[in-house]
Amino acid sequence: MSYDYDLLAIGAGSGGLAAAKKSASYGAKVAIAERELVGGTCVIRGCVPKKLLVYGSQFSHLYAEAVSYGWSPVESSLNWQYLITAIDKEVRRLSEIHIGLLAQAGVELLRGNVTFVDAHTVAVGDRQVTAEKILIAVGGEAFKPAIPGIELALTSREMFHLQVQPQHIAVVGGGYIAVEFAGIMKGLGSKVTQIVRRDLVLNGFDDDIRAYVQAGMVQHGIDFRFHTNVEKIEPVPAGLQLTLTGESETTLTVDAVLYATGRLPNLEGLGLEKVAVAVKEKAIAVDEYSRTSQPHIFAVGDCTNRKNLTPIAIGEGRAFADTEFGNHPRHISYRNVPSAVFSHPEAATVGLTEAEARDLFLEVVVYQTQFRPMFHSLTGADEKTFMKLIVDKYTDVVLGAHMVGDNAAEIIQGVAIAVKMGAKKKDFDATIGIHPSTAEEFVTMR
Ligand code: NDP
Repeated sequence: MSYDYDLLAIGAGSGGLAAAKKSASYGAKVAIAERELVGGTCVIRGCVPKKLLVYGSQFSHLYAEAVSYGWSPVESSLNWQYLITAIDKEVRRLSEIHIGLLAQAGVELLRGNVTFVDAHTVAVGDRQVTAEKILIAVGGEAFKPAIPGIELALTSREMFHLQVQPQHIAVVGGGYIAVEFAGIMKGLGSKVTQIVRRDLVLNGFDDDIRAYVQAGMVQHGIDFRFHTNVEKIEPVPAGLQLTLTGESETTLTVDAVLYATGRLPNLEGLGLEKVAVAVKEKAIAVDEYSRTSQPHIFAVGDCTNRKNLTPIAIGEGRAFADTEFGNHPRHISYRNVPSAVFSHPEAATVGLTEAEARDLFLEVVVYQTQFRPMFHSLTGADEKTFMKLIVDKYTDVVLGAHMVGDNAAEIIQGVAIAVKMGAKKKDFDATIGIHPSTAEEFVTMR
């Protein structure tokens, strides 16, 4: 039987793009289908525009701190529309670059809504195409709990297109997206109330990291409501009224409310039931080679809900291409994957948390340090940088490295190489520091 394509990738985000280009590089005839802008969550409505907003939000602090270094006070105000438009333009530029890269790689781009017709046939808009192998890389979408008035709440998707800056925004959730947007909006000048159902943000991170991020956010003026839930949202003349329950049992009137309460695989309308692809806990079930329950259908990235990070989706996509078209079967490792939270203060991490190490019955030695970064010796601000190493007591292997503070992501990326290689604490100790820097503390902790 002959097919239109050797591979059809569904979804032109990080995973789909990487898999399509790599498969084409092995000589496969490849098409990729996308219903929105090419680039996916990361490029279009995630990592990229978010990081640009983070950069934009940092100027307010820098302007204030410049005075401590002898600069005259800076009077400046934000043109929200300008920032949003500039970011949108950049995102569209990047999307065009990805389209160009697809063309260069010889991958055909198909536009339209995608739904399975049968095991090897997919409808893309009003066209039907067939493929020998199909890769599902449709990503995820924000999840909002079903409470009255939830349709009035924004998700991160809409945050990048708000025409007017909210003067007061409520952020619901305590995960990556919630803490990042709380910091962004505060830095850009909005009043921020963050509603968290636990007593600490960033569940799953090392407890010290959670506490330091939270303390830093409080210091930067985020109004937290812990152990609190939103019961309903109602429109009122002054904006939106949130009825809160739990520790903060009150009402709160804001201009906008952002729900960052997790993300779910984006499987609606895909017609997976027609091809009997197994779904487990709302995600496409796959093995380590990204194979679904159908031998010729594969899935990578957030729609499989393994580790929802862009570099993981790219890694899974390339490993799939190597395995299926490059005659080089391989899968990626999910151990010691570094990640960062671009909150204010920033946090980054690689390896085991202290609690995870103890849960594995490992005996650990914990090294940690907390200090005011040199930059703030003149500003006098009570800013803290925190660093922590988790070391196996018997093997001396560094099991985890965690940090809160400026440039944490940049620093942990380097440390992650050492941790991934199995470096021991004595290797860290034998490394000469770069002075004066924050990063040197990772090799001077005793
Ligand atoms: P997370 O899963 O990280 O956090 C969700 C938050 O919402 C948690 O605090 C959770 O609380 C809370 N929550 C869930 N349901 C409810 C509810 N019904 N009512 C109130 N609170 C609720 O999801 P995000 O949306 O922040 O991010 C999704 C994923 O995207 C992340 O896991 C990450 O993989 C990825 N991402 C990565 C980034 C990066 O690398 N910098 C940036 C942004 C996203 P609880 O802890 O109690 O469950």
